[in-house]
Amino acid sequence: MRYPVTEIFSSIQGEGLLVGCRQVFIRMHGCNLSCAYCDTITGEFPACCRVEATPGKSDFKLIANPLGAADIAEATASLDLSRHHSVSLTGGEPLLYPSLVKELTPLIKGTRQGIYLETNGTLPDSLAEVIDCVDMVAMDFKLPAMTGCAPLWETHRRFLKTAASKYTFVKIVAGDKTPPEEVITAAELIKDTAPGVPLVIQPVSAGGNIMAVAAKHLLELQELALSIIDDVRVIPQTHKIMGFL
Ligand code: SF4
Repeated sequence: MRYPVTEIFSSIQGEGLLVGCRQVFIRMHGCNLSCAYCDTITGEFPACCRVEATPGKSDFKLIANPLGAADIAEATASLDLSRHHSVSLTGGEPLLYPSLVKELTPLIKGTRQGIYLETNGTLPDSLAEVIDCVDMVAMDFKLPAMTGCAPLWETHRRFLKTAASKYTFVKIVAGDKTPPEEVITAAELIKDTAPGVPLVIQPVSAGGNIMAVAAKHLLELQELALSIIDDVRVIPQTHKIMGFL
């Protein structure tokens, strides 16, 4: 099997609980959702994958898509995994390709903490297939008012149930339009399904016609969630603030 990969590079993790950790990112092409605030190119099939030659130098070379698991593992290993916390499988949506995750992860050796899966949390059957292949799961709950998508609560519940067998946290993207009820539902879902799993409220990044979020609104949303579960943090996309990839 061969797969469409957008880019492979070394940078810091800019979001969520592992913010600041050095990772190699394998960004898969394509997504099953279309969130209003999406900052990832998920349209046309990428003719080439750009692969960083030297960790952190942005000296990319191009490799023709699609790639096999061995090609991806080789490009990843060339970035010196021993200096990295983990390898992030990201996208787009990496769980569109469960067969790749199963084939690729045994080929990735030498990170300090293993495999980190960044996912939109909407493909529970795919997750069940690969959960034994990953060490950490960063999953989204997609809030309808922000994404413009239909509610996905039951899908997220099934996903979280499986994800919680690993180191896991849930991320929600919040904006000025995020209603308190959606944050309450998210926190209650965590409480009922996987108590102890942290919730990260990530303010939507300003850009285009999307407005930044008022700090007061974020504090109100955090307080609401904290009235239901123990661990709720507000963390922005720090890589954008610092100018990382
Ligand atoms: S799930 Fe992520 S990659 Fe997919 S459309 Fe939404 S923001 Fe973009």
